[in-house]
Amino acid sequence: MAEPILPGATIGVLGSGQLGRMFAIAARELGYRIVVFSPETDTPAGQIGDVEFACDYGDLEKIREFARLVKVVTFEFENVPSATTRTAAEIVPVRPDGQVLHITQHRLREKGFLQEHGFPVTPFRRVGSLADLEAAARELGLPAVLKTASFGYDGKGQVKLHAASQLAAAWQSLGGAEGIYEAFVDFEKELSVVAARTLGGEFAAFPVFENTHANHILDVTFAPAAIAPELAREACELAKGILEQLNVVGLLTVEMFLTRSGKLLVNELAPRTHNSGHLTIDACVTSQFEQQLRAVCGLPLGAADLREPAAMANLLGDVWAHGEPDWAAALSDPRVKLHLYGKAQPRKGRKMGHLTATGATVAEAVRRVREARGRLTGDGVKA
Ligand code: AMP
Repeated sequence: MAEPILPGATIGVLGSGQLGRMFAIAARELGYRIVVFSPETDTPAGQIGDVEFACDYGDLEKIREFARLVKVVTFEFENVPSATTRTAAEIVPVRPDGQVLHITQHRLREKGFLQEHGFPVTPFRRVGSLADLEAAARELGLPAVLKTASFGYDGKGQVKLHAASQLAAAWQSLGGAEGIYEAFVDFEKELSVVAARTLGGEFAAFPVFENTHANHILDVTFAPAAIAPELAREACELAKGILEQLNVVGLLTVEMFLTRSGKLLVNELAPRTHNSGHLTIDACVTSQFEQQLRAVCGLPLGAADLREPAAMANLLGDVWAHGEPDWAAALSDPRVKLHLYGKAQPRKGRKMGHLTATGATVAEAVRRVREARGRLTGDGVKA
């Protein structure tokens, strides 16, 4: 068994957004040092890290320099070229490894892998031409969602299809990129399981999160999800099977649909912490970020239990539309916590921060967090 990477050591993070920032904060709490690598400067994660590399992911000489400074490389952004992780892995462990990244950064490879290993997924077809798209529509029917196979997130690179007359325009909109055609799932709920696994195979899952989206972007998450305990166990077992099959060392998130007939279908995997897991900072014994750190450093995992029901509401740039939000008003509820990511430009749709509320029940936590967000703009309707 490899020796654990102990506090005092330096950890490398690929990517520099809010997930890297909250990871760096957790790592600092445990006495680690952080080096951040991304193409930008003054980033959410770079503001917390000791060293910030502002270089292209394809600059392999800089990747070597970065890897030589650290004991392990992890990431908060999975769309880095395989050559980047391969190069880093010649010098230090990369966790999760390049193979996990390779599979999860491409929707067709990911769904193919899941299907091949018997995990339930939405019916899908590869689309490489208009003829493929027409064939997929005939075989799987409409409505459906056409997505780019690579580089999609938060609904970007996706079109919903209702009628055969939309197919030609939808194919055009992919701009020649490879796509995936998915049958539209008329789901009852969207759920996610964030789970960690160590080199020795120790596994821990956070309680199942229930997620609601607005304009394809996560809006509110709460935990525990309002589902039967057997279903929650099933969701965690599904996640466990996936982490084991992928041989993940680190953290991985499984996004799922719960269908109206009570079946779980995997929608997407993210080989990292997840927006739906942010409430773990304020509501769980161990946060998802500390858990990632423990898993990639070879330390024992922390308890992932929820201390009390909790809800998280995202704060997008839209909240700044009429000037600086009224932070004091949001925090007038003492059970509400504010997290801001240090981003200077509050653009529409950009994730700027989040609020978490806890409560005696999930319904109370959701009400508190929505009301707090409404007070930011003095506009209860937007909450
Ligand atoms: P994704 O980028 O795959 O996570 O998709 C973003 C969001 O679009 C999901 O969280 C769902 O709300 C919706 N969505 C994606 N795929 C489907 C599908 N096959 N059926 C229904 N809704 C979907």
